[in-house]
Amino acid sequence: MDFLRLSDVDVHGKRVFIRADLNVPLDNGHITDDTRIRASVPAIHDALTRGASVMVTSHLGRPVEGKLTKADTLEPVAARLGELMRREVRLIRDWVNGGVWHSSLAMGDLVMLENCRVNPGEKDDSVPLARQMANLCDVYCNDAFGTAHRPEATTHAMALYAPVACAGPLLAGELEALGKALDAPARPLVAIVAGAKVSTKLAILRTLLAKVDTLIVGGGIANTFILAAGGRIGKSLAEPDLVPEARSLLDEFAGRIPLPVDAVCAKRFAADAAPAIKAIDEVADDDLILDIGTNTVAMLLPLIAGAGTIVWNGPVGVFEFDAFAHGTRALADAIAAAPAFSIAGGGDTLAAIAKFGVTGGIGYISTGGGAFLEFLEGRTLPAVEVLERRAREVSAPLTASPIP
Ligand code: ADP
Ligand code: MG
Repeated sequence: MDFLRLSDVDVHGKRVFIRADLNVPLDNGHITDDTRIRASVPAIHDALTRGASVMVTSHLGRPVEGKLTKADTLEPVAARLGELMRREVRLIRDWVNGGVWHSSLAMGDLVMLENCRVNPGEKDDSVPLARQMANLCDVYCNDAFGTAHRPEATTHAMALYAPVACAGPLLAGELEALGKALDAPARPLVAIVAGAKVSTKLAILRTLLAKVDTLIVGGGIANTFILAAGGRIGKSLAEPDLVPEARSLLDEFAGRIPLPVDAVCAKRFAADAAPAIKAIDEVADDDLILDIGTNTVAMLLPLIAGAGTIVWNGPVGVFEFDAFAHGTRALADAIAAAPAFSIAGGGDTLAAIAKFGVTGGIGYISTGGGAFLEFLEGRTLPAVEVLERRAREVSAPLTASPIP
C-alpha cells in the first residue's frame, strides 16, 4: 500500500479537509455508540497540533440528496466530538461553495461540515462537486475506512483534485492490520458471513470462498442457502433471486459451507414472540427463522475451536431480541475463547460483540462492514486506489499525466 499518510504531510498553516466516518448509530438523536467518533479523533488532533485549520465531514445515515432533515444532521456528532476534544466544534451548513466561514478559518480552527451525503452528486462521485470541495482545502485526508469501498465524491473524486491527497491514521492503520492478518493467515481460515444485507454479502461469497477453508453462514444468507439446498424457511428473510447463485456455490464448494440443521423460529418478528426450536424440515410456511438452533451451534463450535484464523461479519440471528440471541452469543463466546486470530467487522457485528462483552477476546476489530468484506475478498478499495494513484503521480512527476 503505497500512499501518502497525513503524518508525512507538512500541514502547518494549511487547510486540511478530513473525510471521516462518523456514521454512528442514533436513537432519537442520541448517539448509542460513539466508537467511530473516538476513532476519528487522532487524525483531527494530529493536524490541529501541527498548526493546520481543520474541516471534518462524514456521511450520516442515508439522506435524500439536497434535503437536510433532522434525522440527517451531524449536530449530535459535532457536540460529542466537542466533548471528546474539550472545545467547541462549529457545524457549518451549505459549505460546498465556501463563504465567510471558510475565508475566516485560522490556524488551529476546527469546524465540522454538515452531512456530506446531503450534497447532490456525492453518491454519484460527481466531478464538479468534487472540484468545488477540493477548492476548500490544501490537503485532503481520507480517514474513513468504513466507506472506502464506495466511490463517492468525498471518498474518491475529491482525492483526484485536491492539491495533496493522503490517508489518515485510522484508514492506514486498518488497512495495515487487515493486510497483515490476511496476507498469510494461519489455516484453517474460517469466515462467518451472516446478517441481513443478503444481496450485497452473497455477491462476494464466490471470491471469498476461493480464499477461505470454511464458510459459516447465518441470518438471511443462511436462509438463502437453505432454500438453494431444497430446505424450508417459511416467511424468513432471504434473497430468492440469488438462490441459483447459492446453489452453484454449494455445488462448487461442496463440504465447505455447513448449513444450519435447525433454527429458532417465531410467528412474529418481535422481542416477545414465542421462540420454537425446529429442525429445518419442520419449519412451517408461516414461520420466521430468527436464529440458528442448538444442534447447529453444536455443529459449528468445533469448527471455530479448530480454526487458525477467523473472520466474522454479521450476527447469525436477531441478537437484539434476547430470545433469538443465543446463536450469536454462543459463536461470539466461542470466537473469543478460540486460539485462532480473529477479526470482526460490521456495525451490527460490533454491537453484538459489545452486547456480549467479548471485545477483549477478538484479535482485531475493524470499523468497516462492507469495506471489510471487500478487503477480505482481495479487492482494492476505490478510496485507497485513488490515493495510491496520487502517490504514483508524485513519485514519477515526469511521466505522470497532469491532474485533470
Ligand atoms: P453488519 O452490520 O454486522 O454488517 P447486517 O447489517 O448485515 O450486519 O445485519 C445485521 C442484522 O441482521 C441484525 O440487526 C440482525 O437482527 C439481523 N438478522 C440476523 N439474523 C436474522 C434473521 N434470521 N432474520 C432477520 N434478521 C436477521
Ligand atoms: Mg448493519
